[in-house]
Amino acid sequence: MALIVHKYGGTSMGSVERIKNVAQRVAKWHAAGHQMVVVPSAMSGETNRLIALAKEIQAQPDPRELDMVASTGEQVSVGLLSMALNAIGVPAVSYAGWQVPVRTDDAFTKARIESIDDARVRADLAAGRVVIITGFQGVDSNGNITTLGRGGSDTSAVAVAAALQAAECLIYTDVDGVYTTDPRIVPEARRLARVTFEEMLEMASLGSKVLQIRSVEFAGKYRVKTRVLSSLTPPDIDLATEAESGTLITFEEDEQMEKAVISGIAFNRDEAKITVTNVPDRPGIAYQILGPVAEANIDVDMIIQNASVGGNTDFSFTVHRNEYQKAIAVLNDTVKSRIQAGDIVGDPKIAKVSVVGIGMRSHVGIASLMFRTLSQEGINIQMISTSEIKISVVIEDKYMELAVRALHKAFELDQPAAA
Ligand code: ADP
Ligand code: ASP
Ligand code: MG
Repeated sequence: MALIVHKYGGTSMGSVERIKNVAQRVAKWHAAGHQMVVVPSAMSGETNRLIALAKEIQAQPDPRELDMVASTGEQVSVGLLSMALNAIGVPAVSYAGWQVPVRTDDAFTKARIESIDDARVRADLAAGRVVIITGFQGVDSNGNITTLGRGGSDTSAVAVAAALQAAECLIYTDVDGVYTTDPRIVPEARRLARVTFEEMLEMASLGSKVLQIRSVEFAGKYRVKTRVLSSLTPPDIDLATEAESGTLITFEEDEQMEKAVISGIAFNRDEAKITVTNVPDRPGIAYQILGPVAEANIDVDMIIQNASVGGNTDFSFTVHRNEYQKAIAVLNDTVKSRIQAGDIVGDPKIAKVSVVGIGMRSHVGIASLMFRTLSQEGINIQMISTSEIKISVVIEDKYMELAVRALHKAFELDQPAAA
């Protein structure tokens, strides 16, 4: 008997029939003697619907009020799932985040979990009940409801698993694991039986939305055994088979990994590029440009400064598209005249494509294969950034899918890796 956390995403909770299937699956684990905690998301499309409603009233709603609205989808889910379990004779109880409580900071719409009280949950588990806790939401120190950012139910589940020292956190979703790239873009993508925590962290941060990045951070920090698997299999399949399916996130030293150099390709269209032209090339200039941007609480991702010609240069960086207009305004208002730069030029039509793999540490030639592949497709690289286990490039967004497919093939990710 073990304490197990299940997380079900929006598609998995998408209809009354699917919720009944989730109940059957949870009942199977409960009947096998496990203590079960379940963290569901809102039904698919619901959070989008709620946010759209709010924006019909106000283009930029107050973040506290937006969280009040956006968090309600999960409350519906926990109640319905609890009913579905009770209806088949499994005792269950549902909780909103504030009832547990799941305590967060007060950064509305992107709050971070600070602590989770386990007393109430443990008492229910001891009494044999399945405990169902809302994903995505928490409560700040003033009692305000907060949400954890889009895709945040993954983080709720892993954080609950960490707080309860669960034996495993199973993330049930609409794919049967983590793939070499998004199978919606590349049908030849392969499921990885295992992926290291470090690789998953890079893939999530670079745009693989199968897991929210913060959930991977929690899994790493608290060493939560986390598995991504399908909720679309028949709920009554053999439990032992189900428990070994999907993709296990491992800690590199624990496991004999597949020996692929590259594990996956991630991509996103969430960023925009800003260029400050004709910047005088002198000490302190990067700070003078990026200091005010940081003060405005805008995160900067990739940065590039060209070699100077005649003492002047262009300086480019990327920010999240949501903060693009704000960043341009900061530069126009405070930076442009102070450093006597030329123009502030924005380009939101970019995409970032990254190859990720711990095998890169011991292999040379990864960057050249990546650049050759893109050049053969006639795709211009605008920016490059590297770390020990990833290479990212910024390209024009219309080439994103082409680039991902070409790289997937060039790195032979459609072929089974040598053991
Ligand atoms: P959920 O609602 O269950 O949280 P998400 O839509 O958030 O599901 O995440 C699952 C989706 O992530 C998949 O349907 C798939 O299109 C996408 N995805 C992106 N990258 C990957 C990847 N490398 N492996 C698997 N799925 C991926
Ligand atoms: N319902 C939330 C969202 O759509 C959280 C989640 O699905 O993980 O972002
Ligand atoms: Mg998700």
